[in-house]
Amino acid sequence: MRFALLSRLPQRRVLLWQELLSAALDGAPVLLGPPHDTPDPALREKVEVLFVADPPPGSFADWPSVRFVQGLWAGVDGLLADPSLPPEVPLARLKDPAFAGVMAEGVATHVLSLHRQLHRYRAQAALRIWQPLAQPQAAERPVGILGMGELGMAAAGVLASLGFPVMGWSRTGRPVPGVEIHTGEDGLAALLARSQILVNLLPLTDSTAGILDRARLARLPQGACLVNFGRGGHLVLPDLIEALDSGRLDHAVLDVFEPEPLPQESPLWEHGGVTILPHVAAVTDPRSAARIVAANAQRFLAGQEPDGLVRRDLGY
Ligand code: NAP
Repeated sequence: MRFALLSRLPQRRVLLWQELLSAALDGAPVLLGPPHDTPDPALREKVEVLFVADPPPGSFADWPSVRFVQGLWAGVDGLLADPSLPPEVPLARLKDPAFAGVMAEGVATHVLSLHRQLHRYRAQAALRIWQPLAQPQAAERPVGILGMGELGMAAAGVLASLGFPVMGWSRTGRPVPGVEIHTGEDGLAALLARSQILVNLLPLTDSTAGILDRARLARLPQGACLVNFGRGGHLVLPDLIEALDSGRLDHAVLDVFEPEPLPQESPLWEHGGVTILPHVAAVTDPRSAARIVAANAQRFLAGQEPDGLVRRDLGY
């Protein structure tokens, strides 16, 4: 009994993950932790690997023999915020090419929609206005991507293939073919100044929280659009609303919020300059992901370095 799964996802989804993980682990049993089951302490003490997807806060303390924690999602900000996560235990996040492809599809969908001004035609249609708008070419619409990791790189490839000039911002400035890479505060300012559409795919860390604030949004070209697929904590909402109301920004597509679900009383629901998505930019497919995380756990147990290890000092 080496494996357990901790998640607050609905039971139907947790049972599917459990079945797929067990199959990918050559039939090894996978225990479920609360809220779906409360295994006997004698069994819990044998568990060495925890698979986690939004586990109940504080739940790591109940698994004293754990040697490896494997996230089922790409983001780890929620896991790192849990003080019960033992600091010495290696933590890996999901790195799934199929998932990156789904995110790239989501980014392309919304960048194309903004580029072809669907939000404006929807507003015109509501008023029965038949009015063609001037339409720039994709080559005239530079797109900036914050975060050039697994997801940013996949999105950049698809956008470049559609003809958009693509710029990327990362910490280390690792080169990405076909993408103009920027780093540091100066690089961010340069990227923002030319991004007619800005896509955020950063992890939420101490260095990136609140990064999309009034000063940064003010650097974007007049009439720019924003796609926030990173985390709600990256974006200062009152600053976004001010930028939209003043006409500096044209439209924002928001998939992530702080908190989630977006509260009923949020002014965003009524704001015509915002498209709200319920955190669906890319949803993990358990069929591909279970195979990948199970193989990663087996790599760890065989004494090899797992893929996607999180650097705790950097927060991603
Ligand atoms: P990743 O592979 O770890 O890539 C993170 C990227 O951000 C890297 O390029 C990294 O730079 C850059 N970065 C980190 N800190 C930075 C800083 N301080 N300054 C500049 N660049 C910085 O992560 P990923 O798999 O692409 O996922 C990115 C994020 O997407 C996740 O953390 C999560 O927040 C979000 N996400 C959202 C959804 C959704 O449905 N909306 C789904 C999955 C994930 P280096 O390359 O130099 O390291």
